[in-house]
Amino acid sequence: MTRALPLEDALMRMQRDLRRALAKDPREIRWGMVIDLARCIGCHACTLACVAENKLPPGVVYRVVLEEEVGHYPMVRQRFVPRPCVHCQNPPCTKVCPVNATYRDEQGVVRVNYLRCIGCRYCLVACPYAARTSDFGERYTNDTPEMPGKLFGRRAAFAGYEERPAAEYGRRWPDRNGGSPFGNARKCHFCLHRLKVGMLPACVTSCIGRATIFGDRTDPDSLIFEALGSPRLFRLKEELGTQPAVYYLK
Ligand code: SF4
Ligand code: SF4
Repeated sequence: MTRALPLEDALMRMQRDLRRALAKDPREIRWGMVIDLARCIGCHACTLACVAENKLPPGVVYRVVLEEEVGHYPMVRQRFVPRPCVHCQNPPCTKVCPVNATYRDEQGVVRVNYLRCIGCRYCLVACPYAARTSDFGERYTNDTPEMPGKLFGRRAAFAGYEERPAAEYGRRWPDRNGGSPFGNARKCHFCLHRLKVGMLPACVTSCIGRATIFGDRTDPDSLIFEALGSPRLFRLKEELGTQPAVYYLK
């Protein structure tokens, strides 16, 4: 059976949905994500877009794409499962934080306050989705040899990439140099800094399979609302009662 082509690209539709959401009373927004596993081709573009957007150091990845084999031999196929922080509505990670550095905001996004976080990593252990990582201050340019001159060498590479500040949570986070978010717990935050200025999260805009749907779950005219009505819908580890705001389509 051939599928009718959608009249409008999903990104254009989500962009319109986002504009509508941002015009609302912010207290009425509930951000959410639906990932269509039938559309994900495992290209990892979302992972890389997220790393670049948030200037993540080596070993810190917010959006991993898990790979699994489904079916029974010989009828097996590979399936890709992108897994960001699923923004639990009942998050185990926030309950164990001894300094209240991590919390769920009024729009359903689970945040980390880097200025409060003491890096104890209790939340990493409590997260049943392994969605949190710790920033040990590694740099991609650490192994770049130092060379004389301004254009080459470690210093130039560092200035060209790692010295530029990241924009998470709407603040400037320049070269870590021992300061936040170095030593802190880190994870996906739905690109709050982009949402704030009317841009979709980096993983959404870079997804060439249009497998990632994002928006305000309470807007009945939105693409995400439509996706949430699908009979293919499920959530990861539903039995734990964590109630993720990230859903999947089988
Ligand atoms: S690592 Fe930071 S956010 Fe996590 S529990 Fe410890 S203080 Fe809280
Ligand atoms: S997926 Fe993990 S880090 Fe994200 S809200 Fe749930 S428990 Fe917290």
